Amino acid sequence: MSRSVLVTGGNRGLGLAIARAFAAAGDSVAVTHRGSGAPDGLFGVTCDVTDSESVTQAFKEVKEAQGPVEVLISNAGISDDALLLRMREEAFSRVIDTNLTGAYRVAKAAVSDMIRMRRGRMIFISSVSGLKGHAGQTNYAASKAGLIGLARSLAREVATRGVTANVIAPGLLDTDMTSEVITRFKDQILAEVPLGRVATLDEVAAAALWLASEPAASVTGQVITIDGGGSLGN
Ligand code: NDP
Repeated sequence: MSRSVLVTGGNRGLGLAIARAFAAAGDSVAVTHRGSGAPDGLFGVTCDVTDSESVTQAFKEVKEAQGPVEVLISNAGISDDALLLRMREEAFSRVIDTNLTGAYRVAKAAVSDMIRMRRGRMIFISSVSGLKGHAGQTNYAASKAGLIGLARSLAREVATRGVTANVIAPGLLDTDMTSEVITRFKDQILAEVPLGRVATLDEVAAAALWLASEPAASVTGQVITIDGGGSLGN
């Protein structure tokens, strides 16, 4: 049965790979964008996750087009790295507001319909940074660690209503966000990854697809790490 899926930041990068995977599985997939338009074959809604009204409007449009959101992938995110000594408060706040409060905004917009329908899957895209910490990423790592607490608390709140909330924590991926890091530090980073390679976007998308599938109905409040073993032991 085709479900109504919404992927925030699904216009490019990891979000787009996830959106394509759900569309290929036969779901109706909407993606948010901030002016780029939607990639071919996907329904696009303009949405800035730092703006509650914009989030409310986007959910309204998705509901009208393909029904209430049954699967939410909270993927939109930014980084703005600097050592704490040099990090401006604005950069700290902006990253938290986008990555963590943005996830709160979209989860809140999704939850009442999911409870009413007595089914729903929420998947939050975190990062191994949120598990291990990463020098230069106090803002980003804090936002990504916060998502784990958010998802686990939400999982407890909605469990009896047939709704699950889980987290995917990827390691380094090859996207616009990391193009500079990959160019400069790829070998150094991969030296600490047992599998010795970067996970593909499709591998992460496959995990999202599984978490949203019927066989994963009893998986909730979990963190699935996809990083070639780079965070083993953490
Ligand atoms: P990209 O920079 O390629 O894409 C980021 C996406 O987030 C874009 O679609 C962007 O939209 C959207 N976005 C950013 N800010 C907002 C906002 N305020 N409102 C709505 N959408 C917004 O990054 P990735 O694809 O790599 O990242 C996707 C997710 O995966 C992020 O949460 C990231 O933290 C996480 N992640 C990435 C890793 C990596 O190595 N790349 C590793 C671990 C986790 P727009 O096109 O409008 O800018």
